[in-house]
Amino acid sequence: MQNEPHIIAVVNQKGGVGKTTTTINLGAALASKGLNVLIVDLDPQGNASTGLGIEPEDREFTTYDLIIEGTALADVVRPTKFNRLMIAPATTDLSSADMQLVSHEKRIFLLQKALREGVQDQKFDFVLIDCPPSLNLLTLNAMVAAHALLIPLQSEFFALEGLSQLMLSIREIRQTANPDLRIEGVVLTMFDARNNLARQVEEDARDNLGDLVFKTKIPRNVRVSEAPSYAMPVIQYDPTSRGSVAYKSLATEIMKQHSERGVQHVG
Ligand code: ADP
Ligand code: MG
Repeated sequence: MQNEPHIIAVVNQKGGVGKTTTTINLGAALASKGLNVLIVDLDPQGNASTGLGIEPEDREFTTYDLIIEGTALADVVRPTKFNRLMIAPATTDLSSADMQLVSHEKRIFLLQKALREGVQDQKFDFVLIDCPPSLNLLTLNAMVAAHALLIPLQSEFFALEGLSQLMLSIREIRQTANPDLRIEGVVLTMFDARNNLARQVEEDARDNLGDLVFKTKIPRNVRVSEAPSYAMPVIQYDPTSRGSVAYKSLATEIMKQHSERGVQHVG
């Protein structure tokens, strides 16, 4: 599709908003459309790795090694059972990385260096980074390494409040470490159209953020929440489920957005 992979960090400092779910399922949906996708698990909980069926004993080198030990990306990346979907897995080791980074001179640049050098000789179209639920140094590393941010917004009461804090961090990163950092978009997750509050959150988000909010909303769908326990993305677990259809539609929106930008660059 393109020469340089497009690196997207999936961020929101709140836990449980659908970051990991979106990383896995958007990744699988892009791969199902013929693109080569690398998922980078940057959460010490390793939920993206587990959700894609990577057993702990198969995580010989992890994102901890990638960031802290300088292990080459090629040695960290593992295939998944799913075509064109690869993963750089994480284990609980990663929980000590944040402390170790504090005293490092290049503390927020290590993932950028490892990823942008490492993806050169591998043929990925998209790299999706699953961030931890915090604005810690790991998340800042992801924001520096990424070309763009994808922000899952759970359709519930305090959703937009957390966003203003995130926007401040984005501004800071742009001013210091990554001036070209874009926002890929905000995606409403666990959306329940019968719920008045969810509809209100959507209205507020679209009023405040305009085109940044994807047209696609991810519905609350039990098949989405069941899939990880079968170590599968929802599009494999239940291809016709509403969750599966929604993640494919999100993939289409992102691909379209990306090719439109690509055309602009050429022009
Ligand atoms: P985060 O990575 O932001 O902490 P997760 O992706 O782990 O959030 O999602 C939190 C919980 O919500 C998980 O149990 C997940 O299965 C569930 N979940 C996420 N998206 C959906 C959805 N669209 N429908 C139903 N459950 C969902
Ligand atoms: Mg997560």
